[in-house]
Amino acid sequence: MQLVETIAHVRELRRQFSGSVGLVPTMGYLHEGHLALVRQARNENSTVVVSIFVNPAQFGPSEDLASYPRDLERDLKLLDEQKTDVVFMPSDEEMYPLGFSSWVDVEKVTERLEEASRPGFFRGVATVVAKLFNIVQPTKAYFGQKDAQQAIVIKRMVADLNMDLEIIVVPTVRENDGLAMSSRNVYLNSEERQAATILLKALTLAKELWQGGEKDAEKIRYQMTSLIQKEPLAQIDYVSIADADTLEELKVVDGPALASLAVRIGKARLIDNMPLG
Ligand code: AMP
Repeated sequence: MQLVETIAHVRELRRQFSGSVGLVPTMGYLHEGHLALVRQARNENSTVVVSIFVNPAQFGPSEDLASYPRDLERDLKLLDEQKTDVVFMPSDEEMYPLGFSSWVDVEKVTERLEEASRPGFFRGVATVVAKLFNIVQPTKAYFGQKDAQQAIVIKRMVADLNMDLEIIVVPTVRENDGLAMSSRNVYLNSEERQAATILLKALTLAKELWQGGEKDAEKIRYQMTSLIQKEPLAQIDYVSIADADTLEELKVVDGPALASLAVRIGKARLIDNMPLG
């Protein structure tokens, strides 16, 4: 496994790779969710590149950039076990040198859900992912269903800007009690950790209502909201039943939809989602 810190070095290696290259972009502090992406990349490509970069451009001024959990030594051990070929771990200055002033703005699908609570988030994500695609030139790049809106935004960017690669979305990996794995779960104490199971319960309720024939999206949102409000430690950011492609809020669920939510518990802001249809 090669550890690479500069863009020039990635490009030099890239010229030597033959066959397909799979890229898994991460912010590190890896868990089984990340490793599911790496395993799929390993199965489908000759070369696997994983990036570890806590991207300052996607953090708001009041967010957890400084305290974002990090454990590079452990990450590298896990990636080595998965037979990763290259780990790209650039510095902030390597990615955003003095004078940096070009940004990728994906419209429409970024205007709701996460963006409402985290203004500028998707501009930061789309820009860093576009840069990683230009640097690594992967054949395929792997993203988690856990961050469903992010995957939709990246697919939009790739289509709109004619980027020559395939985006693969990997199902959400969960803890035994259903909590979606996330680097930010470390922010939860044991009581909050227990309370966090409310997210999947609310999504499961949405799925059950929908499977039972409920088509009124507002009724589903209302039931999810009422359930979450019974958990005193949970504070709702949003509860959404939206079109699976455009993420526009639905009145009637009459095609593929996405149930999604963001909930604050203690210091953590947790997101999760469940496709309906
Ligand atoms: P992050 O390090 O949080 O930026 O995540 C890196 C990638 O891992 C993103 O594509 C995430 O969607 C994906 N990911 C994070 N958590 C999970 C999970 N529990 N299951 C599947 N993919 C995940």
